[in-house]
Amino acid sequence: MTTTFRFLFSLGFFFVFLSCHSQSAIVTSKTEIADTAFVNLKDYSLDFVYDMKYATEDNFLKAKVYDCDECFLRYKTVKALIAANEEFKEKGLRIKLFDCYRPLDIQKRMWTIVSNPEYVADPSKGSIHNRGGAVDITLVNKRGRELKMGTSFDFFGPEAGHLYEDLPQKVKDNRALLKEVMIANGFNSFDSEWWHYNLKSGLKDKLSNEKWECK
Ligand SMILES: [Zn+2]
Repeated sequence: MTTTFRFLFSLGFFFVFLSCHSQSAIVTSKTEIADTAFVNLKDYSLDFVYDMKYATEDNFLKAKVYDCDECFLRYKTVKALIAANEEFKEKGLRIKLFDCYRPLDIQKRMWTIVSNPEYVADPSKGSIHNRGGAVDITLVNKRGRELKMGTSFDFFGPEAGHLYEDLPQKVKDNRALLKEVMIANGFNSFDSEWWHYNLKSGLKDKLSNEKWECK
């Protein structure tokens, strides 16, 4: 190989490298995640506590209806939830998750047990959970203990409502803190359930019945 040829040969490699490099840069920008894409919360933050009730038998269905305790949500819901959790972390608290995205078939099963729209969304209309924009949550302190909220998660009675007055002041304060930070980060509360929050920009996203893969 002559020196000139060796030089041209190396130059060729250099350009191949450059073109591959620029191509991968373009691919990266094209594969930016859409706000409405379903993602796993764990891929974006490890700062949440999980107690996914429907991945156990400890729920009102008395059945394990999820194969694993993953929290899938639309990407925009994940971003808003992480922003809220950052605010709670500054106060020495964290969000604990009870439920996130919920396939439509599970909604139908819930509706057959509790056919009351105050507590379970009618599957013909769909819940924001089925759209990837709702979360059921509480707060835990640094030792991982839940803050007192007055009732357990999925308590079907007036005591679970935001407007219920006959509660200790501490409970009212805890509910108010959860609500204040969630609303400041783009969520709406739900009058009859202190644990439920809907992403305001997710109310009209498509219903889904996709099940996620368990690792
Ligand atoms: Zn909910």
